[in-house]
Amino acid sequence: MTERLFYTDSYLTDFDARVVENAEAGVRLYLDRTALYPSSGGQPNDLGTLNGIRVLDVVDEGERIAHVLERPLQAETVSGSVDWARRFDHMQQHSGQHLLSAVFEALYGMKTVSFHLGAESSTIDLETPALSPAQVRAVEERACELVFECRPLSVAFEDAAVAAGLRKASEREGTLRIVSIEGVDRSACGGTHVKSTGEIGPVQIRKLEKIRGNVRVEFLCGHRALRRARADYEALNAAAKLFSSPLDEVPALVQTLQEQAKDAEKARRKLAVELAVRRGAELFAAAAEDPSGLRRHVERVSDGGLGDEQRALAQGFTSTGRGIFAAACDNPPSVMLATSVESGVNAGKRLKELLAVHGGRGGGSAQMAQASLPTTEALNALLEAL
Ligand SMILES: [Zn+2]
Repeated sequence: MTERLFYTDSYLTDFDARVVENAEAGVRLYLDRTALYPSSGGQPNDLGTLNGIRVLDVVDEGERIAHVLERPLQAETVSGSVDWARRFDHMQQHSGQHLLSAVFEALYGMKTVSFHLGAESSTIDLETPALSPAQVRAVEERACELVFECRPLSVAFEDAAVAAGLRKASEREGTLRIVSIEGVDRSACGGTHVKSTGEIGPVQIRKLEKIRGNVRVEFLCGHRALRRARADYEALNAAAKLFSSPLDEVPALVQTLQEQAKDAEKARRKLAVELAVRRGAELFAAAAEDPSGLRRHVERVSDGGLGDEQRALAQGFTSTGRGIFAAACDNPPSVMLATSVESGVNAGKRLKELLAVHGGRGGGSAQMAQASLPTTEALNALLEAL
């Protein structure tokens, strides 16, 4: 059984231990004791070194803890060290989680059903259908107040049968490790924690997400909250610079810009259709008249399909005089056929006849029909026949 030194001292970073078993050709070590925390209870594992060799993973196997090394180590005893920056970050997030869970419960009776400490951010799932912005602000402020008060955190070992006042009842039997925040919280937990709420640093609630009838609350503590606030400021400041405006006016300015862009796009589309109708009439004027007085034009585009612009061209062409207008697109293979009333050609009927020979699906009215073809070859054969 591996003695877990972090249970009684979260601040221990250097330790000596005896090698109990050397497995997998020396890359999986079991020690009599360790200060390296294994992934468990929602807290990610520590990183560090054993005799200077990097520890890639620390695995909780129940009784024992396995240390997975970067390369083999053959030794009777080892000197271990814990990557303190990573560990302290986990301590800030984990203690912050206890604090936030306790405040959510104290202020609004919202129970924490699960939590996750992630590499970027952490989350708490609250048993509540909704969480208002005012509630978020109140919880964040209360949590930060408790940080400013530097409430002591302590660890005690109590018998499960008599341990009382826990935020969440434990299903474990025997001895419980209880982490307390003075006057705020008592929770059964095996994780590593700071010794004062002051060390948690800033507590920041971020994204809310509804998941399976609960609300998932993303939060950051300590250095993470500080770095994120700095990154937020820089992003917002860059946007404000583009507008030459104060930071707080950016959302309103973006909204105005969005509305303007929408209006401009609407006007542009209207003008594009008008222009295409005129171009259609020009194409008609430029097309040669056959002996029967009919004019033809084929408009070809390589990709993007056939849409409003081709329809407007067709309209301009066929409304000017006796004409047949076809538009074709290579990718996806598609065709449009438009005829003027005076042409005497039924576009829908004619296209159906061609599709029966060349494959494809589509149809339309007497003056306008459209179809998709299976291949570019079928499209070319259809145009040829047309
Ligand atoms: Zn915990």
